[in-house]
Amino acid sequence: MRRGTLIVIAGPSGVGKGTVIERLLSRIPEGPALSVSVTTRAPRPGEVEGVHYHFVSDQAFDRMIADGSLLEWAEIVGHRSGTPRLPVEELLAAGRDVILEIDVKGAEQVRERVPRALLIFLEPPSLDVLEQRLRGRGTETDAMIEGRLQLAARELQESPWFHAVVVNDDADRAADEVAAIIEASRTA
Ligand code: 5GP
Repeated sequence: MRRGTLIVIAGPSGVGKGTVIERLLSRIPEGPALSVSVTTRAPRPGEVEGVHYHFVSDQAFDRMIADGSLLEWAEIVGHRSGTPRLPVEELLAAGRDVILEIDVKGAEQVRERVPRALLIFLEPPSLDVLEQRLRGRGTETDAMIEGRLQLAARELQESPWFHAVVVNDDADRAADEVAAIIEASRTA
């Protein structure tokens, strides 16, 4: 059986990775599975355990690092998030494609550990647009937004080593482009 492809969708916080992935998944029935990360941050209103994240303590996260159960992980403005390795490996072995929605540091680890992974960078049309989106989300303080913008400026410089860069000017258009990139990688 053909092994599934690991697809990384990375990019700055607030760029709209979640929305683009949602549109992408609704477009491909029985398409890729979305990996559920573990995180040490508190749930935001509306976030559901096991759906958006597995919310874990710092101690539990330390243990997952120590026993090698994370495929990648990163510290992201004061908390840590990572990808549980086992579910991803099982899905890939069963022939299913798996999407990781992660930050740029995590993507770099996947690049080293999973050479066949397809790495896609989602870019905002501009840093101004990113700032408006982060403020519009209304979930973070000014200091947190400032921190995320500084990080975003650094992350944008990393885009050249990704296999593809997609500008999220419109979520539907960006989802179409990502779908086309995934399709092209299959036939390549
Ligand atoms: P948020 O805390 O707003 O959900 O996510 C903040 C950032 O962490 C986003 O860029 C998101 O993609 C990233 N992120 C979420 N889960 C993971 C993960 O498992 N690994 C890594 N490296 N980044 C993640």
